Amino acid sequence: MISECPGAPAGLARQLEEVVLQASVSPYHLFRDIAEVTAFRGSLLSWYDQKKRDLPWRQQAEDEVDLDRRAYAVWVSEVMLQQTQVATVMNYYTKWMQKWPTLQDLASASLEEVNQLWAGLGYYSRGRRLQEGAQKVVEKLGGHMPRTAETLQQLLPGVGRYTAGAIASIAFGQADSLAPLCQATSVVDGNVARVLCRVRAIGADPSSNLVSQQLWSLAQQLVDPARPGDFNQAAMELGATVCTPQRPLCSQCPVQSLCRARQRHWTVPAVPATLGALGPDPGSGQLPQKGQP
Ligand code: SF4
Repeated sequence: MISECPGAPAGLARQLEEVVLQASVSPYHLFRDIAEVTAFRGSLLSWYDQKKRDLPWRQQAEDEVDLDRRAYAVWVSEVMLQQTQVATVMNYYTKWMQKWPTLQDLASASLEEVNQLWAGLGYYSRGRRLQEGAQKVVEKLGGHMPRTAETLQQLLPGVGRYTAGAIASIAFGQADSLAPLCQATSVVDGNVARVLCRVRAIGADPSSNLVSQQLWSLAQQLVDPARPGDFNQAAMELGATVCTPQRPLCSQCPVQSLCRARQRHWTVPAVPATLGALGPDPGSGQLPQKGQP
């Protein structure tokens, strides 16, 4: 029942927005039917199961049984990975988790210690906000991380829609006993946005409101309700390692048969970062580049 879902009003409003949005977008930029969505999920997840990188935060999220500790581990990794390369984050993450393995440990650290460990990662406010968040969870939330994307975003300082979605899906992916509107949470970061834009030939600016909403809507439609955390990580991994900005490795891509960019540019090795405008199917041989109608 919708009334039992903590995020129901926002979720309902979002659903209505999505209905209006879907009505205004050409079917060319959407997934055709559930069979296509199922094929996308299956191909992406089986690729991820075979090829996923061995990253310390992934291991931590898989091994940790305590939900608060698991969510904290995912939160730290997501904040460190904002604007920073995976290779750089790995050492920092390992040191951080060794020094402050729990929210309580971080909450009792001094800001000076946090800044010291953060030195070299840049954007120091990220470390400070993490610590403020840990203090809030310990002092005001009984030591328990909020359990939904909506409440994570509402209650934790510096946690936006993307980070909240990542924590909720990766750490609490099994929490699908929640109401239907809350049961699977998608995420759209730069990597996911690029993959979705290419797969559905969306070339308008992904940071614009309309396109951003459309991408969230597509991601929400695609996310696998049985494995939301893995699905979201797989989509990010695909963007980071295969569907790269400059030279996507289309011949190695698990969703190439569903990719409109691939279908239309199959002889072109470098698929542009953005393709075609969001609107009616251009129908011509070449997709317009960014900035063109
Ligand atoms: S086929 Fe190429 S452009 Fe399409 S999603 Fe895969 S890597 Fe990206």
